[in-house]
Amino acid sequence: MVILVEIVRLSLGTAIQMGLESGEKDPNFTTAFLMTYREEGCDANCAFCPQARDSTPASDRLSRISWPEYDLKRVVENWPESDHFRRICIQTVCYPELVQDVLEIVRKVREISRLPISVAIHPISVEDMQTLKEAGVSTIGIALDASTPSIFEEIKGIHRDTSYRWEDHRQGLSQALNIFGIGNVTTHLIIGLGESEKEAADFIFDMYEMGISVGLFAFTSIKGTSLEDKPPPDLSSYRRIQVVRELVSKGLLQRDQVHQGAEGRISFGIDREIILKALASGTAFQVTGCKGCNRPYYTERPRGPMYNYPRPLTEEEVARAIEETSLVV
Ligand code: SF4
Repeated sequence: MVILVEIVRLSLGTAIQMGLESGEKDPNFTTAFLMTYREEGCDANCAFCPQARDSTPASDRLSRISWPEYDLKRVVENWPESDHFRRICIQTVCYPELVQDVLEIVRKVREISRLPISVAIHPISVEDMQTLKEAGVSTIGIALDASTPSIFEEIKGIHRDTSYRWEDHRQGLSQALNIFGIGNVTTHLIIGLGESEKEAADFIFDMYEMGISVGLFAFTSIKGTSLEDKPPPDLSSYRRIQVVRELVSKGLLQRDQVHQGAEGRISFGIDREIILKALASGTAFQVTGCKGCNRPYYTERPRGPMYNYPRPLTEEEVARAIEETSLVV
């Protein structure tokens, strides 16, 4: 028996852009965010996530964002006609019928839009990845979230009583590369889960050496999750990791040029001028992830601090962000 997907979640911002909710439209909103709907939430149990099995109460949130539910048919009918968005991102919660549901959402959306589609999902079989690709998915994200195997197992894996394992996620990323190709596989890294700056930097090197791009997130505590009392990362420390990501993604920094100093603070053994030139545009401090994605206020509180800017920075903001790195004086 085939059960058709009837309901999806949209991020509140996406729903406003589509006119399904009232609110001020955001000219910087570039990605339509959909999420699979499942009444029971996710079978996985990531300690930071409101959708996790142990999170209370059952929530319509993912990160800081509210994701109300809609009829898929209504979403399709309200899809903006012009090139309002630049990308479609389908977030998923983990459950047995997930791949069929994602496929159906992809097929429905493909009937009305030719925009690139990204899917954020846990490791799935090679056959399922292939099927998603054939249906029109161009980019796949498998979130490791943690910098090291031990943090992963603590936050998402064995110590959370789930089937997620660091090695399986790593293997899933390698398999995804074979199917989707370099430039089309991403992972997420959350800063503030207990890693050192050097561990986060090493993770970024590992991923880029594999051909995987890294979307950075600052840990944000959400009420009702296991980590609701955990503080966000130090802004200066986060800025340095943003710099690592920017330099590594541009091939401007080697692993042995990252030095760990007092209190775990990293510094770089490269010319100050190279760093300043690479940071001048401010892209290091903008949201990172798939091309064209900006996730406004996904982990940022509107009153700040602005860990990831959802738009180009002003000159003043670039200067301030560089100063916050404490790297160049
Ligand atoms: S797999 Fe995704 S949705 Fe499920 S608990 Fe982990 S982060 Fe949340």
